[in-house]
Amino acid sequence: MTATLKKAYGTVVSAASLIGQSRVPYLPREHLHQMRDRRLRDIVRYATETVPYYRDLFRREGIDPRDIRTAQDLDRLPLLDKDTVRRNPKLFVSEAKPGQTAVPFVTSGTTGAPLQIFHDRHSMLINTGFNEREKDVVRSLLGGRRSYTEAGIGYQGGTRTVFRKFLDDYRFGLGQAVWTDLYVSDPVKSVAAALSRLQPDLVSSYGSYLEAIFRMAAAGRIHFHAPHVVCYGADSMTDAGKRLIERDFGIPIVSLYNAVEAFKIGFTCEHGSGFHLREDLIYVKIVDGDGFGLGTGQKGEVVVTNLVNRGTVLLNYRLGDIASLSEERCPCGRTFVLLSELEGRLEDVVYLADGGFAHPRLVWKVFKHRPGVVRYQLIQHALDTFELRLATVDRAAFERVIDGVIEELHRLLGASVVIEATYQAEFQPYVGGKFRPVLSLLRDRGSHQGEGT
Ligand SMILES: [Zn+2]
Repeated sequence: MTATLKKAYGTVVSAASLIGQSRVPYLPREHLHQMRDRRLRDIVRYATETVPYYRDLFRREGIDPRDIRTAQDLDRLPLLDKDTVRRNPKLFVSEAKPGQTAVPFVTSGTTGAPLQIFHDRHSMLINTGFNEREKDVVRSLLGGRRSYTEAGIGYQGGTRTVFRKFLDDYRFGLGQAVWTDLYVSDPVKSVAAALSRLQPDLVSSYGSYLEAIFRMAAAGRIHFHAPHVVCYGADSMTDAGKRLIERDFGIPIVSLYNAVEAFKIGFTCEHGSGFHLREDLIYVKIVDGDGFGLGTGQKGEVVVTNLVNRGTVLLNYRLGDIASLSEERCPCGRTFVLLSELEGRLEDVVYLADGGFAHPRLVWKVFKHRPGVVRYQLIQHALDTFELRLATVDRAAFERVIDGVIEELHRLLGASVVIEATYQAEFQPYVGGKFRPVLSLLRDRGSHQGEGT
C-alpha cells in the first residue's frame, strides 16, 4: 500500500469508528452484553484458529471453544498470568495477518518487568472511536464544547508516542492543531513554560507527574497557566494530590484505566465515582487469591479479557491491579458498570538535589531495552543516595548490563549521587499492587506524601 492509500484507508476506518460511540455508554445493559458476547465468540474463534497458545490449550484441556458463548463461560478457561506471557510472548500473538502485522508495545513498567504486547492495526484505528467515550466527559466538563486543545506529557517511546506515530502514518493531519506532545524528560521549567504558552484546555499525563508539577506550583517553585481539566492514566495519584488539584486549584480530574494489554478498560465521569468499564470491549472480573470470582463490593484482583485486539490475544488475563466492582448506578446515566479506585498503581517520583525531579518512567527507560533484565527496583534513601536491586536472567547478564545501567542512572539522577547496585536472583513473588519499581523513602518531600490517606 502506498503512503497515501494507507492514510486514506486509515482516515476512513478511524472516521467510521466514531459513529454511534457517544451513545454506547448509555445503552441498556442487555444490549451491551449482547455486543460483548458477540465480540467474545469472535475472539475465541479467532484464538482457536490462529493463536498457538489457545489452539494448544483447547486441545490439551479438551475444551470446545464453541461452548464459550457468554462472558460467564470464560470461567471454563484457566487464568493467565503475566509471567506466562512474558516467558513466551509470541505464543499469544495470532499467526493470521492482523497478528503478523501488529504493532509492538512494551508494558509501561509499573511492575518493573518488561512485557511485549502486539496490537493489530485495525483495532488501533477504531480506538479513535472508543476514545469518544472519555472525550465526551472532558467536553461536558468544558461546558459542552465540541473541540478542545490538549497537551500530553508523555515519554519518548512510551505507549502514547508509539500510538501517535502510528496514527500520523495512517491518517491525514487530523488533530495536529489541537494536540501538543510534551515530555517528562524535559526540564520541568520548560514544560511549565510550554503550558503557559499553549494554554491547553486539557493536560494529560501520568498521575504522578501531574501531582508533582502541581505540588511544585503550589510551593511557588514553578508557574504555569492552569488547564481547565487534567487527565491521567497508566498510574495513579495520591488522594492528597487529587485534593490539591481539585480543591486548591479548582481543576476537575478525569482518570483513565488503561493498560498496554488492554488499551481501554475504563474512565471516570463527571462524578468521579470510580471507573466506568467499557463493557462491550473488555470483560472484567474480580477474583480472589485462588482465582475464584468475587461478587460486587468484594475487593480482589482484576482479570481482563480483551475482546478487540487481534495481535496479542489475552483471555482471562490477570492484570495485577486490585479493585472491586460496584452495584451502584452512576447519576451520570451511563450504564457501564463502575469499578472502584485501583489500588497499587501509585508511582514514586524521585526528587533530586537540584530541586527538580525524575519521573519513574525515565528510570524505566534505562532498563526497557536491555536484554536479560527481568525486574528492577530503584530505592531512594536520601536525595543523593540510591540502591538498585536488579534481577536478570543470570549473573552473567547482570555483569553485562550493570555498568551501562549505572552510567545512565547517573546521567538521569546526577553525576554525584551514590548508587549501590545488587544482583537479585529473584524478587519476592509479585503480589498485586504491592511492588514499586521506583520507591522513594524520602519523608520530607515528594509525591508519596499523603499516600494511604
Ligand atoms: Zn458516571
